[in-house]
Amino acid sequence: SESGNTYYRVVMIGEHGVGKSTLANIFAGVHDSLDSDCDVLGEDQSSTEQPQDEGECEEDTYERTLMVDGESATIMLLDMWENKSEEEWIQDHCMQVGDAYLIVYSITDRASFEKASELRIQLRRARQTEDIPIILVGNKSDLVRCREVSVSEGRACAVVFDCKFIETSAAVQHNVKELFEGIVRQVRLRRDSK
Ligand code: GDP
Ligand code: MG
Repeated sequence: SESGNTYYRVVMIGEHGVGKSTLANIFAGVHDSLDSDCDVLGEDQSSTEQPQDEGECEEDTYERTLMVDGESATIMLLDMWENKSEEEWIQDHCMQVGDAYLIVYSITDRASFEKASELRIQLRRARQTEDIPIILVGNKSDLVRCREVSVSEGRACAVVFDCKFIETSAAVQHNVKELFEGIVRQVRLRRDSK
């Protein structure tokens, strides 16, 4: 295995509205060891729509260096899956460039869970010969009363996908640190076994 810092390109994919950009912003806003202090969301209005900057369609990438298990890793996180110009090449590009993938759905939206399966198949097709690390991410776990996808369904789906599974809440920053540490560990596991 290598010494020193390693660099991973991690791509977020998933249906609109599942929380990809919110997760990416948490990732972008934290330093070193992703402090999970959640003093940001004092008020209980986390699920209201944020005003979006409509005109913007530049590629969203965020870079952070994390210490995971005593070794540093730099993640370049790509949140460009949803593209307003609907140019198909961007999604094709996303499918090609990741060292690892976060397939995100919302536990409050069954359609987004079904979309996750489609994306898994699409990814497998795009990268046939490669053993790509993937985490299936069930986001919005704070919205317990709106749950449409159970934890066991998510877990079972990950078994079929042959990938890891985690439920997160970007709103209350639950398991977000674990998510990004987890994807680093998944990439390392594969590199170290070569
Ligand atoms: P994207 O389309 O996948 O990038 O989703 P966004 O990050 O734009 O999030 C869509 C909406 O869901 C926004 O209003 C977010 O504030 C909200 N949201 C994202 N993550 C969570 C979460 O974990 N819990 C709750 N309650 N709302 C969330
Ligand atoms: Mg987004």
